[in-house]
Amino acid sequence: MIETRKSFCRFCHVFCGVEVDVEDDRVIAVRGDRENAASEGYTCPKGRAEPERIHHPDRILRPRKRDGDRWSELSPDDALDEIGAKLRAIIDEHGPESVAVYVGCGGASTSRATASSALRSRRTSSTSTTPTSRCSSPPTRLHRT
Ligand code: SF4
Repeated sequence: MIETRKSFCRFCHVFCGVEVDVEDDRVIAVRGDRENAASEGYTCPKGRAEPERIHHPDRILRPRKRDGDRWSELSPDDALDEIGAKLRAIIDEHGPESVAVYVGCGGASTSRATASSALRSRRTSSTSTTPTSRCSSPPTRLHRT
């Protein structure tokens, strides 16, 4: 049986109101919630593609590392250690302004990245980034589902 739940999209900081169809604990459809006072039924294609993002069989679930034409999986701890060591080497050689990170929009799915970017900036004095949304400009609000 399909159950419809009201929620909000966490893909970016616009947080559009959505109705989510769930069947057997699987999200099968997302559409704009016309009763949401802020978004009034608007969703962008990214929000409506959430079922595919959540359940896609090729979804990447672990860090990957490219070595030439090949990719291998590694643990999150090993990935962070490698990335940290490389960033440390770049900063040591070229200074803190040589590193910048784009963290997306600051929505719930990227809030940890935003927080870690702020922390990184404080620790290294490196370039800050500006969280922003690429899908919430006024023209896109004309597109309703
Ligand atoms: S603009 Fe798109 S990605 Fe952002 S909250 Fe709304 S549906 Fe989600």
